[in-house]
Amino acid sequence: MNSSLELGKIMDIPVRLHWTFLLVILYVAWAFASFSQTVYGKTYGFGGIEPAQLRLIYSLLFAVVLFACVALHELGHSYIAHKNGIGIKSITLYFFGGVASMEEIPRNPRLELQMAFAGPAVSGVLGLISVYLAGPAAAFGGAGNALAIMLWTLGIMNIILMAFNLLPAFPMDGGRLLRAWFATRMPYVKATRLAADIGKVFATLMFLLGLSTLNFMLLFVAFFVYVGASEEEKATKISVSLEGISVRDIMSAKVHSIALEMTLEELKELMFREKHRGYPVMSDEALVGIITLTDLQRVPEAERAHTRVDQVMARKLYLIGPEEEASTAMKMMNEMQIRRLPVIDEGRLVGIVSREDLVRAIELVQ
Ligand SMILES: [Zn+2]
Repeated sequence: MNSSLELGKIMDIPVRLHWTFLLVILYVAWAFASFSQTVYGKTYGFGGIEPAQLRLIYSLLFAVVLFACVALHELGHSYIAHKNGIGIKSITLYFFGGVASMEEIPRNPRLELQMAFAGPAVSGVLGLISVYLAGPAAAFGGAGNALAIMLWTLGIMNIILMAFNLLPAFPMDGGRLLRAWFATRMPYVKATRLAADIGKVFATLMFLLGLSTLNFMLLFVAFFVYVGASEEEKATKISVSLEGISVRDIMSAKVHSIALEMTLEELKELMFREKHRGYPVMSDEALVGIITLTDLQRVPEAERAHTRVDQVMARKLYLIGPEEEASTAMKMMNEMQIRRLPVIDEGRLVGIVSREDLVRAIELVQ
């Protein structure tokens, strides 16, 4: 995630800011400034600051506090996860809100309900507190009026944030609540499919509404919800199908390894003959690298006859044990963006597991 900026850590969780969020801070500041123009016009003589400057300061402050509220919403989810021993890799703030990236989504409907509910609950409480404080602030008059407007707007924004997140559509919290609720009545995959279908209907309605009112924001959210629903459904299907399957069950145990000295020309012939797209590279019985068709293709045709395997192979190896779960292999491949993992048992190469093996296993189960 190089398109996001790490702000710091809370509860040991890195909090990141996606570049789209910077845009929204500026937009929110601008919108708030124009919305509250009339109020700040009346706050003369506040510490010698011009009304226009004061408006700018308040608007930026408002945007930053709103951002903190979004972060608190995510921390609400994370707190419940943390308490139940679920790791949170990071929290990223996008223009539409935050996303807490969990190591795994609990397959326990009660816990998922609690976790999904915690975020909107935080937003709701923050909203009510802000609205409540706006009254006393207004009593001060002058700069207090400006503060009251800020608190009031902040309160309303938090309540909108809560309502928006409660939309019954993935990847919104409401989608998770719905799935968890269904999951207490039917199998998990079926519950996910039903929740995802409802999300898609919602997305379609939002899209039509966005189209008829030419609301760009709504169109974007519709798209986001549609993609989110499909992704969630796919990910759940995969992790459920791979349940109880170990790496040993699906790996290719007949590993053909190659030597460091092999030329790429020879490797190409071997790949052609055996129809494998990647090979482990061995030296003195030890695994030293892995070479794939992609590595081979990077070298121009003419140079392949005198380029050795060890000149282009990947030396950084991600390994997996045969008794690990197949879904762990899937997760590793997705995270590292690789297509195969050597399987190592007591220091010995015993097999290789590829993305194709995983896909085959998923298809067989389904
Ligand atoms: Zn949330």
